[in-house]
Amino acid sequence: MYNPIHHKYRPQTFADLVGQDAIAQTLTNAITTNRIAPAYLFAGPRGTGKTSSARILAKSLNCISSHQPTPAPCGECDVCQGIANGSTLDVIEIDAASNSGVENIRELIEKAQFAPVQCRYKVYGIDECHSLSGSAAQALLKTLEEPPHNVVFVLCTTEPQKLPNTIISRCQRHNFRRIAIEPMVQHLRAIAKSENIDITDKAVWVIAQLAQGGLRDAETLLDQLSLLSGQITQEQVWDLVGAVPEQELMELLDAIAAKEPQSILNLTRAILDRGKEPMVILQNLIEFYTHLLIAKTSPQNHELAQVTQLTWESLVKKANLWDTPEILEGQQHLRACSVQVKSASQPRLWLEVALLGLLSKTAPMAAQTHPPAPSSASQPNNLWKAVVAMQPPAIKALLTQHGTLAAFDGTNACIQMRSAPLQQRVAGDVAALEAAFGKVTSHKVKVTVTS
Ligand SMILES: [Zn+2]
Repeated sequence: MYNPIHHKYRPQTFADLVGQDAIAQTLTNAITTNRIAPAYLFAGPRGTGKTSSARILAKSLNCISSHQPTPAPCGECDVCQGIANGSTLDVIEIDAASNSGVENIRELIEKAQFAPVQCRYKVYGIDECHSLSGSAAQALLKTLEEPPHNVVFVLCTTEPQKLPNTIISRCQRHNFRRIAIEPMVQHLRAIAKSENIDITDKAVWVIAQLAQGGLRDAETLLDQLSLLSGQITQEQVWDLVGAVPEQELMELLDAIAAKEPQSILNLTRAILDRGKEPMVILQNLIEFYTHLLIAKTSPQNHELAQVTQLTWESLVKKANLWDTPEILEGQQHLRACSVQVKSASQPRLWLEVALLGLLSKTAPMAAQTHPPAPSSASQPNNLWKAVVAMQPPAIKALLTQHGTLAAFDGTNACIQMRSAPLQQRVAGDVAALEAAFGKVTSHKVKVTVTS
């Protein structure tokens, strides 16, 4: 039967535990010096090794290949095997999230009073213990108040703040951190090697980065990718998770920094055409702004930004082109636009509007090109071109691509946009448009925008 990677490579000893060195060291010391607490609280995000550590602790306490608790359980003896496959009566694993409210849990906890049958220690591993029902939590508290000999509780939770203080205060607490990229990469490389998975180093980095500190997520991703044929590349990783590759976000950022509306639109369309959702592009770009901000303000701290080494170096270099308020404002603007992109019937369009809107934040409002001579401007087509040319880059791009001068009688100009959202976007700039018409025609012109 197929054994998923995250099962197969589950750590067997604390020394195998990935990225939680301090916890591994503390628990190893506790076992070697035989100072075992009656209750442990393992708190931290999902996939960071809490449940695995609970199992390792159970084996370490009970492995019968050793005459006393050992930090290096054999993994082979009846007890180690029994713990691994869940058949040992003395090691009880409870998933409070799926069994919440079941009377059984309370009874199980109450049975902690009975001595272990087969093992040195009875070990209760309670997963997502913040979800225990009221009566089960009461039974647990009562047991912890006077812990029976040779019973160890290991409470695991992703949400320690939901646990009553009366329980927390009776536990030795260990905070499991998100696993850093470097140890995660090393671990994934080792798995790929022993499983003969052909994967590029960049792709490994991308997996580690996407997992955001959760080892199980990283392993599951690698597992899924290993089903593809041929060498696994970073593009395949990005595709599998539906995210925009860093390289493309970087190009987009370059175009924004250079204030090139046409490049922004071209790049965005290319990403959209490759099947990425507008909302995903926007969210990924918002995250990328965060990375840029870290690169700008804290270039020594790569570990704060979940991007690959290459992208990080590039971001640090390019951060010089930006000032901090500009990054913050840009990100705020994109966040504000995400509501529209999410709910609009034309999310692609709104994404483009949002991105071009970044330019109008920083672009000077004054005309950027000189209007052509009045003689040629008297032709409606040339007049329109001249007016458009005088707009800031974002509006200029919108008008060029999606707008026409539908009517002009010398004092009234009607601009037609391709859609209602675009109409609304341009309607906010009527004053600038009227000023431009005024300059080109030397008359006062009233502008209306329709769609
Ligand atoms: Zn053993």
